[in-house]
Amino acid sequence: MKANYHTHTYRCKHGKGTDREFIEQAIASGLKVLGFSDHCPWVYDNDYESPIRMQPSDLDDYFSSLLSLKKEYEKDITIYIGFESEYIPELMEKQDQLLSGYPVDYMILGQHYNEPEYNSHYNGHGTNSLKQFTRYIDLIIEGMDSGRYKYVAHPDLLYYAGEESTRVEQYTRLCKYFKEHELPIEINLIGLKNGLHYPSDRLLRIAHEVVNTAIIGIDAHTPNLIGDIASIELGNTVAENYGIELIDYLPGLEPKI
Ligand SMILES: [Zn+2]
Ligand SMILES: [Zn+2]
Repeated sequence: MKANYHTHTYRCKHGKGTDREFIEQAIASGLKVLGFSDHCPWVYDNDYESPIRMQPSDLDDYFSSLLSLKKEYEKDITIYIGFESEYIPELMEKQDQLLSGYPVDYMILGQHYNEPEYNSHYNGHGTNSLKQFTRYIDLIIEGMDSGRYKYVAHPDLLYYAGEESTRVEQYTRLCKYFKEHELPIEINLIGLKNGLHYPSDRLLRIAHEVVNTAIIGIDAHTPNLIGDIASIELGNTVAENYGIELIDYLPGLEPKI
């Protein structure tokens, strides 16, 4: 594994470790690129404070810490600074305003919610709702069409507990979209390691049929996961077993050393 673009920090309130520890672990593991993608803050219309993502007031520290470490370690590893975010149409304008002026290298799309989270179901829970499922896929496609995001984290985060044929139909629609736009699916290592419902056998089979590529995303919330060779090996094995080609780097986010 040469690059990981899916890394969180303690600022999202469910990650641990210092920024430096993540970077030193990545160097020790032989990564050429480490991309930070902590859960992006939203600007809500009310005073709701998310317990699972950075606050707008964390942005200055996020960038100042990572920019200084990026420079300090530039001979050892290429650091990119980005975010993992949902695509929620009514909130995008204020998020753009919030981030303007910050040197954001990239974003990945993690569609944990379809609406502002205080008003929404978590997509990671199983659902029987066809409406929620199709909205989830629609928003991912609309989000990727906006050109904001480099790839979709855990595209099968939403487990649809309804008809299998519907699940196949919707995930085929998504995989074909990825194929058409040369986007990889993510093999999410937290999901794999913890035996979560993603990456799912269903999505991987479809990705094989559609001839998608894949990228491994560690989804590291602690530095040690970046050095977890067994999980990384497992990710490689899954790609190999399903006959899916892995890509090392995201376009435009290659190593600079
Ligand atoms: Zn996520
Ligand atoms: Zn994540």
